[in-house]
This record gives sequence, structure tokens and C-alpha cells, in this order.
Amino acid sequence: MRYLEIGIGMAIAILMFLAIQGIDLLPILFIVGLAAAFLYVNSKRTGNKSFVIVSKGMAEEQLISFDDIGGQDMAKGELCEALEFIKDVERIKTLGIRPLKGILLNGPPGTGKTLLAKAAAHFTGSAFLAASGSEFVEMYVGVGAQRVRQLFKQARDVAKRNDKASAVIFIDEIEVLGGKRGQNAGHMEYDQTLNELLVQMDGMSENDAIRILVIGATNRIDILDSALLRPGRFDRQVKVDLPDKKGRMRILQLHTRNKPLADDVSLADVANDTFGFSGAHLESVANEAAILAFRESSGTITAQHLRSAVEKVIMGEKLDRIPNTDERNRIAVHETGHALLSEYTSPGSVASVNVVARGNALGYVRQTQQDDIYLYTVDYIKSKIAVAVAGAIAEEMFLGTRSTGAANDFKQAADMAKEIVFGGMSELGIVSPDDVPKELLHNTITGIFKQIESQVKAILTDHQTAFTQIIDTLLAKEFISGDEFRVLLNGNEQAA
Ligand code: ATP
Repeated sequence: MRYLEIGIGMAIAILMFLAIQGIDLLPILFIVGLAAAFLYVNSKRTGNKSFVIVSKGMAEEQLISFDDIGGQDMAKGELCEALEFIKDVERIKTLGIRPLKGILLNGPPGTGKTLLAKAAAHFTGSAFLAASGSEFVEMYVGVGAQRVRQLFKQARDVAKRNDKASAVIFIDEIEVLGGKRGQNAGHMEYDQTLNELLVQMDGMSENDAIRILVIGATNRIDILDSALLRPGRFDRQVKVDLPDKKGRMRILQLHTRNKPLADDVSLADVANDTFGFSGAHLESVANEAAILAFRESSGTITAQHLRSAVEKVIMGEKLDRIPNTDERNRIAVHETGHALLSEYTSPGSVASVNVVARGNALGYVRQTQQDDIYLYTVDYIKSKIAVAVAGAIAEEMFLGTRSTGAANDFKQAADMAKEIVFGGMSELGIVSPDDVPKELLHNTITGIFKQIESQVKAILTDHQTAFTQIIDTLLAKEFISGDEFRVLLNGNEQAA
């Protein structure tokens, strides 16, 4: 900036001197104007000034340690092991170990990849810079590559300014700039950006004054260019999965540690109830529960607040959409059908039954899973199909007709039936999906549905008394908890 001011000052002095000498300044001013306009347009085009890397203040990053991240024990273990190479650089030199340049965190959204990268910077005492893959890619060729160079330069500068020997560069959504090369027809901008990242990573060495570690995050590792994954670049890949029950419990503990919980709250129950939730979902549950407590002017967060927060996070805010009496009755029958089959095939699995409109649903049954399951047997899949079709079958049995409300259920059921066939679990035995004739596939799936439908009808008939009582309660209360549902179901069965 100072040089620019000196330059402008000198230019004005020269122009004044020439004017005093009687020289015509018009052509000179015209050429200077043209040059300035060109420089201005060019600086806009290459985005020199517009690219701001999201390097949030150092203090915030320093506060995040691995202890602030719940679950993810495997990921933390693998990451720490890799980071030892950065910390103990002298020892790795004596052993002749090639320093680690890149670590790739791979997993679904909201599982804590950014947190892990920040904790890695804290653990290694490094400066931390974060950018997202989409920030690099612009319409103009060369901008992305320039931004990559800028990012690496900025990392070195930030580390130097803060007296750090190393810097962690975190690139979120790395698949945007690291997708397979040659796929983006039209222009080569993506390819050039990726090439520049590879060049920068290849240029890194253990003898650099500031050592750099690149941590990339993605949930689409399958579309990354293989050059990025080859040894010497991102040669450590760490899987960051959805948390299991223990992990969910720990994340809930972390996010409720600054919140007043009532005595009736059991975080273990909430963890049990939230199968499939990511860390970000769980953080949102804790926050929404606190908001509900605030709305009700309650001094503490109760178990009920947490239950409602789980419903809200999974299904969205309650809607004002009010169906007419007949429709509401039908929704109650439909949902009770799902719930009854869910409880019958997997006792304790119903978390709540609702005839409240949330998101796209007019009513819903929320199910929980007692244990995290990683493999599915044919019986398990069939029981899930039974739960999916039970809503429509209940409508038919108790109201005489089916409705369009079951379209989504049938789609899910058909997908699961295909899983049975293509998993080699149907009467066809092991088959290749490409070679099964359409008609044979259709007949096999229909056979599976017929068998399941007759079983569902028999179960619903057996529980008819409980069924009608549950519907009455549901219509009166809009919401039945899993425990209330079981009392209604089992109480009636014992009385029968
Ligand atoms: P994305 O892929 O969408 O960028 P991400 O995997 O990088 O997501 P983060 O940004 O790290 O996820 O997490 C988002 C928020 O979710 C965090 O700020 C934190 O509140 C919460 N969170 C996620 N995972 C965890 C965890 N394991 N422990 C504690 N909090 C977590």
C-alpha cells in the first residue's frame, strides 16, 4: 500500500513537471487511464482481494481439544497417532520416516470433522486455517490455483506471526476441488485448482521453516481424484462415522454440561432414543430442549423438553396444518398400524406415536433401536417391511379402503424387498442384479409382500381391542409416548 502511494505521488510530480515544460499531457493521461482500467478489471477477475480465507481467531481454535469431542474414539486414536509425526519431527528424521502431508477425514455431515481438525491444530500447537472446497472454484481459469497458493502462503504467515512451527490447513468439502480430473467439461478451472493443490503438497518438506499439514474433509471419497489419495499426499484416511450409543451419550454430556438438567433426565435414555443422529443433531437436541424450557419459563430442562426436542430435530417444527376429522381418524389408524407391528416384531422399539403434522408428515411413529445393528438378516428386513406396510393394511381393515398416505411406505417396502432378492436371501438364491428378468423380480417381490401382508393382517386382528383403545387415546392426546403405548397394548392383552 505504501509503495502504491509513493508511486502515485511520483507520477503526479512527473506529470506536473511535463506540464510546466509545455508538453501535451492528453495522450499520456489517456494511456495511464487505459492501464489503470485494465489493472482494475484484472484484479477483479483474478479475485485478488475478494478471497478471504476463513481463519477464525486463534483463541477459539486453541480452546478445542480432543476431550471436547464426544465418541469418535477410533478416529481420534488414528488421528493422534498420525499427528505424533508432526509433533516429534526430530525423531522421525532420525528414523528416516517420510513426514505426513495430508490426512483425509471421511464421514457423514455433522459428525465432528471440523472439530477434529481444530483439535489436531491444538494438539500439535499449530496455527489453524480453514477453507471450503467451494471457495476455490470460480468461473475464471486460474483463480482457484491462485487461491490455493494464497492459502498456503497465508498459513505460513499466520504461523510465523503467532510463533508456531507448524500450520494445519483444513479444507472442508474437498471433493469440490478434488473431484476426478477431466470430468468437468467446458473449462479446466477445476483441474488447474487440483493440480495446484498437488503441486503445493509435493513442495512441502520436513526441512521447511513452517511445516504444513493439510486436513481434508469429505463425505464423497468415491469421487476424489486418485492422485489426491496416492501415498505422499492424503496418505492417511480416517473414517468419522455416526456415533454409537456410547458416543451419543458422551456428546450429550458435552452439550448439556452448561445447562441445568432436571432430576428426571436420563441422558442414557436420550442416547438410546437417538439412533442415527450425528453430533450436530445431538447438539441441536440439547439446544432445542433449552429453548423449550426457556419458552415455558422453566428453570431446568426436563425429560419432556428433551423428548420434544428429539421429535423436533428429527421431524421439524410442529405445523398448523389441521386435517379434517375423517382424515385425522385415518392418520391415527395408519400410525397405530405401524406402531403395533413395530412393537410386535421388536418389543420396546416404539419411542412415540403422533398425529401431529411436522415436516412432510401428517403423523408419524418414531422408532428406536436397542442396539446398533451393522448386519441385517432376512427376518429383520421382513419385519421392517411388515412395519412399513402395516399402516395401509390397518386402514383397509378398519376403514375399508387404503389412501395415498402409504405411497412412501410402499416405496420403502419395495426397496427392502429388493435388498432381500439381491442379497441372495430370497427363493431365487444368489442372483446377479443385472441378470434377473424384470418379471421374475416382480413375481418374487410380490410373493414376499403377499406372505408378509397375511401375517400383518393376523397380528392386527389378534390385537383389535387394544388397537381401538390406542386410537381413541391418540386422537384425544395427539401424542403417545412409547411407554404409554406399551401400557395400552399390554394392559389390554393381559385383560383379554
Ligand atoms: P460437515 O461435514 O457438515 O462440515 P462436520 O463433520 O465438519 O460437518 P462439525 O462442523 O465438526 O461437523 O460439527 C458441527 C457441530 O456439531 C459442532 O460444532 C458440534 O457442536 C457438534 N458435533 C458434531 N460432532 C460432535 C462430536 N463428536 N462431539 C461433540 N460435538 C459434536
